[in-house]
Amino acid sequence: MLIDTHAHLDFPEFEGEIDAIVERAAQAGVTRIVTIGTSLESSRRAVAIAEAHPAIYAAIGIHPGSAAEAEPNTLAALRELADSPRVVAIGETGLDYYRLEGVDDDAVKAAQASIFQGQLELAAQCGLNVVIHQRGDCLEDTLRLLAPYRGKFRAVFHCFGGSPETAAALLALGHLVSFTGIVTFKNAALMQASATSVPDGSYMVETDCPYLAPVPFRGKRCEPAHTRQTAEKIAALRNQPLEQIAKNTTATAEAFFQLPR
Ligand SMILES: [Zn+2]
Repeated sequence: MLIDTHAHLDFPEFEGEIDAIVERAAQAGVTRIVTIGTSLESSRRAVAIAEAHPAIYAAIGIHPGSAAEAEPNTLAALRELADSPRVVAIGETGLDYYRLEGVDDDAVKAAQASIFQGQLELAAQCGLNVVIHQRGDCLEDTLRLLAPYRGKFRAVFHCFGGSPETAAALLALGHLVSFTGIVTFKNAALMQASATSVPDGSYMVETDCPYLAPVPFRGKRCEPAHTRQTAEKIAALRNQPLEQIAKNTTATAEAFFQLPR
């Protein structure tokens, strides 16, 4: 039984289809889903979806791409949302310099850092772990902002695409990584090397749907059922049976998100 640890079920691509999506996921052996908020409104929708579906949990957060929309009361509103027993993490949050590359936009970086730091504080207060979005040349800044919280919570570096060395460095700090369907792509040698090298218990699987559908669905709309293809690929890479991948990644996700077993 697999858990899709990163889905965006509140996105318009899935409107009116959640029941069918949960059903197809269950048929593929994906019995639980964490739906991830990307803005205050998206987080509110994520919590509503989780409250209506026993198989779905919510993470609430402000994606760095939504940092500019954050208002003075955004963090207080997130904090109120965190009272729902269906909320299992803060995120996705983090830094994204990908679109900034070549542009020195200190104001954008400062806005991202500010709302990221506020969410880390919230996670520490609520006793929740954090789902990290990290893209572009910002790993150093991400780790600098996380450093004061060592021992207070753990982070998962979602859609991990870095090297085995970077993965090992993150694990040494007590964090986790998770892998999307990109691991099934032909040109994903670095990610495949990381998915092969990380120890059992240190990684999870996810879709990031509606994006990043694994082979053979590449280019189509992704959905939680496709977690299975990602897990199958990781099983092949690691030379472990799918059942063992499922057992290990599910136990890791249950611990990280404090899910009932
Ligand atoms: Zn995401």
